[in-house]
Amino acid sequence: MTKELTEPLVELIRKVSCELSPDIATALENAHAVEEEGSAARGVFATIAENVDIARKNSTPICQDTGTPIFYVHYPPGWSTKQLKLQITKAVAEATARSYLRPNAVHSVTGKNSGNNIGDDHFPTIHFEEIDGDDLVIDIILKGGGCENVGAQYSLPDTRLNAGRDLEGVRKVVLDAVYKAQGQGCAPGVLGVTIGGDRGSGYLASKEVLLRKLGDTNPDPQLDALEKRITREANQLGIGPMGFGGKTTVLDTKINTLHRLPASFFVTISYMCWAYRRRRMVIQPDEIIYE
Ligand code: SF4
Repeated sequence: MTKELTEPLVELIRKVSCELSPDIATALENAHAVEEEGSAARGVFATIAENVDIARKNSTPICQDTGTPIFYVHYPPGWSTKQLKLQITKAVAEATARSYLRPNAVHSVTGKNSGNNIGDDHFPTIHFEEIDGDDLVIDIILKGGGCENVGAQYSLPDTRLNAGRDLEGVRKVVLDAVYKAQGQGCAPGVLGVTIGGDRGSGYLASKEVLLRKLGDTNPDPQLDALEKRITREANQLGIGPMGFGGKTTVLDTKINTLHRLPASFFVTISYMCWAYRRRRMVIQPDEIIYE
């Protein structure tokens, strides 16, 4: 099946780049409210709130770095992934021409910017998965470069951190990554953590888990408890927004697991900055819904 989706996809990109999702905006407001009057942290949150407001009103990007566009396409049987990829690519180029995205695709050796966010394979990144049902569901994340730079992968056991191959070891290395970031990658952020997999699949899954809503509950009670503990303890580090000190360094933590080889135990952390841009579009037979 083919349906012309380029213009709805441009609108999805405009929304993700210019309008922060309500759960993230609320988490930032709550973090703002608990900082001391007159503190640097409170000032940072006030500036973020003003920035978010201006971006929404003017349809301008929330941050100058509009990141790597990452699409997750869940399609019912019968859709052509070749056509969908073509339309997504066209929409990314058009959204760049309309300044919803900054031209961000740079040749790795020559440094030449492609000018339209289209690069070699995987820029934009598109993941496809066939699902049952009638709805086509397209999620997008814009993953900023600064927060991507502070992502990390650990191979357990890690003797330096005294981190073994268990959930306690996972807790130690995730907190180590937050400590090392020291607010770089534009705290307060959200942690996407994958336990297991290999080096490649760990990074993919640690980004995908960031599609979950802030404040939701992990269906695995052990992981849910670990998510809450890591968030609480990260916020006791005092790093604060942008590293200026304060009560909120991390807004939330999301953890998933992948089967692994007996010989390996990787913990992979994808850090998402406060400009946590993710949106969903659902294409139903008669209607398009933006969530
Ligand atoms: S890390 Fe996020 S908020 Fe910071 S510059 Fe990059 S995209 Fe913007």
